[in-house]
Amino acid sequence: MYKRVEHCRICNSKNLHKYVDFGLMPLANSYLDPKGQNQEPTFPLSVFFCKDCYLSTLSIVVDPKVMFSQYAYKSSISKTFQEHCLAMAEQVQSLLGSKPLLVVDIASNDGCLLREFKKKGFKILGVEPAQNLAKEANAEGITTLPEFWSASTVQSIRSSHGLVDVITATNVFAHVDDVHGFVQNVKQALSDNGLLIIEVPYCLNLIRKREFDTIYHEHLSYFLVKPIITLFESEGMEVRDVQEFPIHGGTIRVFVTKKNNSVVEKNQKNIDRFLKMEKDENLYELSEYIKFANRLLDVKIDLLQLLCKLKREQKKIAAFAASAKGNTLLNYCGISSDFVEFIVDETPEKQDHLYAGNRIPIFGLPELEKQKPDYLLILAWNFVKEIMEKTKPYQEHGGRYIIPIPSVKVVSSLDDL
Ligand SMILES: [Zn+2]
Repeated sequence: MYKRVEHCRICNSKNLHKYVDFGLMPLANSYLDPKGQNQEPTFPLSVFFCKDCYLSTLSIVVDPKVMFSQYAYKSSISKTFQEHCLAMAEQVQSLLGSKPLLVVDIASNDGCLLREFKKKGFKILGVEPAQNLAKEANAEGITTLPEFWSASTVQSIRSSHGLVDVITATNVFAHVDDVHGFVQNVKQALSDNGLLIIEVPYCLNLIRKREFDTIYHEHLSYFLVKPIITLFESEGMEVRDVQEFPIHGGTIRVFVTKKNNSVVEKNQKNIDRFLKMEKDENLYELSEYIKFANRLLDVKIDLLQLLCKLKREQKKIAAFAASAKGNTLLNYCGISSDFVEFIVDETPEKQDHLYAGNRIPIFGLPELEKQKPDYLLILAWNFVKEIMEKTKPYQEHGGRYIIPIPSVKVVSSLDDL
């Protein structure tokens, strides 16, 4: 069900050095039926640094069919992400004008981004391998091919729609093993003046803000701008601009075109700013990653100390959002239902299931009102404000929040952030 990474997926180097090792972990986005008898599979979870192109990569690749054929996370569940999608559609419109351009979204999830493009008058097409999500999007009028992004998918898009003007790939590029194949397929699909927009979590934030819970089996690569430029140059494409957004703990939006594109201007100043920042943060040196790995233990110790203290005081602790990163955090820290009694999550598909590994039960939001915990550990810290707004009644009854990352802290309201 998995293969080992022997060389760098960008530069093919074997100069890979391990800096994080979480041991064996279950898949973060798997949710267990409490009546099921099967033991969830576990896989090694560790990260290498490529000394030649500065890519961070997982040490293994789990078969994508195991991870992505059914997918519980829905983009539209987050209002913050919906607003981010709307802003992206507006930006593309102001960049390329309002002609009826064709936008293809790779890994389009439930159609969250394409919905915004559609409202702006773009022609849209989704590509989404999770059958449950593709079906849902199609039912809503967002035409979606239930496929992985592959040469045959591109072939069928070209014969039914022609060349594509805009390709978007948000929160999917880090999931891709064969990045060269992915880019070659983009080149085949894109018109000469077309634009590829990629969004990935920024590795600089992973290191600087200790966002280690974003390390899980789906995320094969952890990107800096430098290795992204190396990749596209090797495929005869060009990075024209890079921008950063706060969503998901810090995301970079990378604008890529064919070399002969005459519409999208190159913003060398922006690109240089990112490269300088990466160099200044010492991120082209293995030693910086080793330091990061050593600092992770502080989070684990601080969180466990706090939970031990609260349990001695007979406090009831629950958690909010059965996110993939939350599962990594809990399993890495060795926290199960003895500390965190249950998790609330708004996604119906996750409710009445168990988190993989630690087996903590997941319920809907009303459980908060029923069980009245004293503390709520926020597992989707990237949406902390949104979560605190959603749980106003809990807050008004004196409930408090534990935010684990970048360092453990307890807050009572938005004012404490
Ligand atoms: Zn490399």
